[in-house]
Amino acid sequence: MLDSIWLEARRHLRAGLLEKDYETWIEPLRPAHWAPGELTLEAPSGFFRDWLRRHFLAALEQAVARASGGPATVTLVVNRSLDVPTARVPNGARPLPEAIAAPAGRYTFDTFVVGTSNQVAQGAARAVVAQPGARFNPLFLYGGVGLGKTHLLYAVAHALTQDGRHGAVATLSAENFVNEMIGALRGDRMDRFRRRFRGIGTLIVDDVQFLAGKMRSQEEFYHTFNALHDGRKQIVLASDRPPHEIPGLEETLRNRFAAGLMADVKAPDPALRLALLRQKASALGLTLDTPVQTYIADNWCANVRVLEGALTRLEAFANLSGRTVDLALVREVLGLTPSAPGARATLERIIGEVCHHFHLSRSEIASGRRTARVALPRQLAMYLCRQHTDLPLTRIGAELGGRDHSTVVHALSAIERRLAKDAALRKAVSELQERLGA
Ligand code: ADP
Ligand code: MG
Repeated sequence: MLDSIWLEARRHLRAGLLEKDYETWIEPLRPAHWAPGELTLEAPSGFFRDWLRRHFLAALEQAVARASGGPATVTLVVNRSLDVPTARVPNGARPLPEAIAAPAGRYTFDTFVVGTSNQVAQGAARAVVAQPGARFNPLFLYGGVGLGKTHLLYAVAHALTQDGRHGAVATLSAENFVNEMIGALRGDRMDRFRRRFRGIGTLIVDDVQFLAGKMRSQEEFYHTFNALHDGRKQIVLASDRPPHEIPGLEETLRNRFAAGLMADVKAPDPALRLALLRQKASALGLTLDTPVQTYIADNWCANVRVLEGALTRLEAFANLSGRTVDLALVREVLGLTPSAPGARATLERIIGEVCHHFHLSRSEIASGRRTARVALPRQLAMYLCRQHTDLPLTRIGAELGGRDHSTVVHALSAIERRLAKDAALRKAVSELQERLGA
C-alpha cells in the first residue's frame, strides 16, 4: 500500500512539477510509513526537508490525496542515510570532472584585448594564474553578456593547465554542476561526486547565477567551495551580476562569493571597441579602412559576440559578392543604424526586467536555447523592445539570442496573438511596463 500510493503520487507530481524540480526534490524522497490519510516521507537532510516544507508541501499533499482517494497529510522526516537515494541509476552517466576541458586555443590571455572596462578583471585573472589560491580567492567576475567573462575563465584554465603545477583544473558551468549533482543524487554516486570535486587543484565555474533558487545545489556547492577554499585551492567564478544581486542565493554562499575579489567587466569604451574591432577583423582576414572602422565602432552595441557575428557576416558577404567593404556595404549587411541615445539603456532595462520577472539570467535569455522556459520570456522581451525603443529588429534580435529579423517578426506576432487570449501574459506585460515606467 505504502509503495503503491507513493508511486501513484509521484506520477501526479511528475506531471505537475517542472522536471528539474521533480528530479531534485521528489526523486530522492523515500516513503516510510502510511496510515490512512497520512504519509510519512524521508528526506536526506534537514535543509532538504525544510525546503520541501516551504515549497512543495501543498503539492505533495495534493498528490497523495489524489493517489489515495481521500484527504491526506504528509509528514517529512530526515533520514541521513538517504543522502544516497534509492532512485534508479541512469546508465551512461558522464564521469566528472576529468571530462571537463577548456576549448583549447581560442580563449587565452593572448587573444584577450584589454581596455579600461576590463583591465581590472583581466589583471586579477592574471594574478590568479601567477599565484593560485594566494590572493584573490575566490575571484568573482561579473558583467553583462558577451563582455569576455567566459573568455577570461578559459584563459585562466588554459594557463593553469599549461603550468601544471597546481593540480587538475575543473572548468564547468553552474548548470553542469547542477545537472551532474542531480545525476549523482539519483545514481547513488554522491560520494564519488564529492570526492572528485574535492580532489582538484582549481575550480572554475561559469554562470553561477544559474544556482539562483536551487537550494539543494547551493548546499552542495557550498560544501565543495569550502572544502577547496580551506585547502587553499583557487576558485574562479563568473556571473552576469554580482552575488548580492542574484535572487534566491543563500546568504552564506553570497558572502563566500563576495569574500575574495569581485571584478566587473563593463561594456567597452570607444577605444576598446576600436581595438576589438581591429583584432577581430584581422583574425578574419578582413581589411577595413578607417571610416568603416569608426562607423562600426560607433554603432555596434556593447556585446563582443555580436560584433564577432557582424564581422563574420561582413566578411562572408564581401567575399561572395566580390564587393569592397565600404560604408554602404556595412550599412546593408549589418543593418546598423544609429539609435537614439536612450534606446540602448532602455533595451538593457527591458531585458533586465524580463529576466527578473521570469527568474532567468541574462545569459539564458540571450542564449540560443529554445526551451519553453526561455522562449516565451525572450519573445516577450523582443515585444517590449519593439514597443519601447526605436531599435531596428536586427539589433533587438542580436541582443536576444542572436535571432534574425524574421524570428523577431515571428515573436512579435506570436506575443500579440497570445495576449489576446492569455490573461496571465497580459498581467505580466502590464507589470513589466509599469516597472519600466512605460
Ligand atoms: P561573456 O561570458 O561575458 O558573456 P564571452 O567571454 O563569451 O562573454 O565573450 C563573447 C565573445 O566575445 C567571445 O568570443 C570572446 O572571445 C569575445 N570577447 C569578449 N571580450 C573580449 C576581449 N576583451 N578580447 C577579445 N575577445 C573578447
Ligand atoms: Mg559567458
